[in-house]
Amino acid sequence: MKILVSGGCGYIGSHTVVDLLKENYEVVIVDNLINSKREVLDNIKKITNKEVTFYKVDLCDKEKLKEVFEKESIDAVIHFAGLKAVGESVEKPLMYYENNLISTINLLDLMREFNVKKIVFSSSATVYGNPDSLPIYEDFPLSTTNPYGTTKLMIENILKDLYKSDNSFDITILRYFNPIGAHKSGLLGEDPNGIPNNLMPYIVRVATGKFPILNIFGDDYKTVDGTGVRDYIHVCDLSYGHVLALKNKKTGLKIYNLGTGKGTSVLELVKKFESVNGVKVNYQIAPRRDGDIDACYASNEKAVKELGFKPKYTIEDMCRDSYNFVKMNTN
Ligand code: NAD
Ligand code: UDP
Repeated sequence: MKILVSGGCGYIGSHTVVDLLKENYEVVIVDNLINSKREVLDNIKKITNKEVTFYKVDLCDKEKLKEVFEKESIDAVIHFAGLKAVGESVEKPLMYYENNLISTINLLDLMREFNVKKIVFSSSATVYGNPDSLPIYEDFPLSTTNPYGTTKLMIENILKDLYKSDNSFDITILRYFNPIGAHKSGLLGEDPNGIPNNLMPYIVRVATGKFPILNIFGDDYKTVDGTGVRDYIHVCDLSYGHVLALKNKKTGLKIYNLGTGKGTSVLELVKKFESVNGVKVNYQIAPRRDGDIDACYASNEKAVKELGFKPKYTIEDMCRDSYNFVKMNTN
């Protein structure tokens, strides 16, 4: 079975490609490398000893994308490609709407034209806005607080409408919680350019001395120690969720949370990181960050029951693997 992986050179996409190759799927990556590097392809080869077909194509360029569909006989698509920085999306909303929506519409239209009806889409827990209760179930009300999140919700709606119009589509929407960690080889991981927005990449950079201090955004949330609580999931557990989604016997339009179901506070994560890696992470309490919520963690019952999703990595694994990746890739 040949899978087109859009955004397959990125953080979650590259780990998923490794899993797909291990399961003997053929992989065609389409990525414009706007937030990733070509060397990822060499590292995927080192890990799996298998080849992927790569097209450096922007999904917004429909003619170029069509050439990929003409050349390759695609059976299913996993759609990771998109811009994902919340803060940047507030500053440059048009760029986010254009990139994330046009790329998806082009992709879906070509899938329709070439009769490729199976797609797995990367959505996010951000579509739940500020939930009224926890854990978060898939049928909770949806709302967003920034343009990035709105693109995810709009794409979910586009997929739902597409399915209504043609129920031979087989669509899986995966709502990710907070992926961290890296491949245990140290060859794949998250390598954001510039100053990272997310907590774990920031913690790692403080631990390696690249940044002097971590700002903890708020210690007066209604949580165990006042700092924000999130559901961190190892990227390798998350990536395997995509293989399970492809193998799912259930067809139609399906939505699953991919999280561990456990909440961890910022301070708990910092302390775990220090003890697992034997390093100090300097931090200070800073004002709350706009748009942040107290706590967010998944119910993953539906994914466990219907997909056989079983996260196996611990917070300790996530802290160790994140640090290992950055140590191996510094300089
Ligand atoms: P990433 O930035 O590492 O990977 C995205 C990839 O898509 C990059 O390689 C980038 O070059 C490519 N890309 C972007 N726009 C493109 C375009 N127009 N044409 C071709 N390629 C394009 O991000 P990631 O963390 O791997 O996230 C993958 C997906 O999961 C994204 O859609 C993201 O919004 C979603 N997601 C991520 C998180 C997270 O915390 N990492 C959480 C929830 C959802
Ligand atoms: N956070 C923090 N300092 C940082 C980055 C994040 O205290 O430099 C906190 C943030 O307020 C939230 C948690 O860490 O409570 C996770 O934030 P992240 O941006 O990683 O994920 P998201 O906001 O998407 O859940």
